[in-house]
Amino acid sequence: MAITVHLPGPFRSATGNQAKVEASGESVAEVLADLTRRYPAVKALLFDTRGEVADHVCVFVNSRDIQTLQGRATQVNEGDEINIIPAMSGGAPAPWTDDQIKRYSRHIVMPQVGGKGQRKLLNAKVLLVGAGGLGSPTAMYLAAAGVGTLGLIDADVVDLSNLQRQLLHDTHDVGRLKVDSAEERLNDLNPDVQVVKYPTLLTSDNALEIIKDYDIVINGCDNFPTRYLVNDACVFLKKPLVDGSILFFEGQASVFQPGKGCYRCLYPAPPPPGMVPSCAEGGVLGVLPGIVGCIQAIEAIKLILGLGESLAGRLLLFDALSMEFRQMRLRRDPNCPVCGDTPTITDLIDYEEFCNGVGVGVAAH
Ligand SMILES: [Zn+2]
Repeated sequence: MAITVHLPGPFRSATGNQAKVEASGESVAEVLADLTRRYPAVKALLFDTRGEVADHVCVFVNSRDIQTLQGRATQVNEGDEINIIPAMSGGAPAPWTDDQIKRYSRHIVMPQVGGKGQRKLLNAKVLLVGAGGLGSPTAMYLAAAGVGTLGLIDADVVDLSNLQRQLLHDTHDVGRLKVDSAEERLNDLNPDVQVVKYPTLLTSDNALEIIKDYDIVINGCDNFPTRYLVNDACVFLKKPLVDGSILFFEGQASVFQPGKGCYRCLYPAPPPPGMVPSCAEGGVLGVLPGIVGCIQAIEAIKLILGLGESLAGRLLLFDALSMEFRQMRLRRDPNCPVCGDTPTITDLIDYEEFCNGVGVGVAAH
């Protein structure tokens, strides 16, 4: 029977630029085999050298990961859709001042926030990894909303090529440290906010020390070693992680809550070096990080206020070209090397080495 297979941007060069194609079969294995018969170039993107679905690629039937079903033996029926999703490169309270009452009035009038919620926001400490494309909207909206302490980690200086999307920085900031221009912007926006600057690379040596002081971590990094480092550090310190990533016209966002799964449950291993281009190599649409960063900011505020249902347990996918949001269900993997039942990684590792293709001990996916 004919099954629709949705393909991510990086795979579409292999399908004549089609985002979805038809393939036939009674099981996931048969559909994928038919897919690679019709589009042979998909094979190298989808499977590893053992002929298994590569560790950095997840396959979903409708919104369910086949790992939670019967793997590649999962049966498919007429009308089912297969989604192929690869990994992609945040004492007694002081009395309110008149200015604060006015500044936060649109929050304070909402029964779901109120003065109590606004106080929670002012007392919250959120760490942003990266003051770039994703970090810009996240930091600006959190500062505007009155999140009292914002930590910013970024070792870079502002480059002219950043300004197409990184709204924290201005043309006259080119050459300055990003954390310095970000601090100026955020303090202009809201003087209530204390900005804590870390003009350094996050490493296995400093990550635990920095992250331990924060309530929530928001990941807006642009590389796989940092993405895995932040994930592992948050697992070890039991910190909620709001993850986001972008490439070309597509974005991903999720929330990882302590004890309920992590980024490695989704992607046990990074793609081989060079397979997934960075934004610098592959490009990224200017507005895209605004969408994904704002989603991260909303998720952080919901966590602080204890409101609604977070993205925990779900992977949100955004495709700007089709203007579609889709969601995949995520689950904690009991075999996860960091958050599983018997973790094999219990301390931070060398993430450069792990991401350069010599990672060992990762579960097949
Ligand atoms: Zn995990």
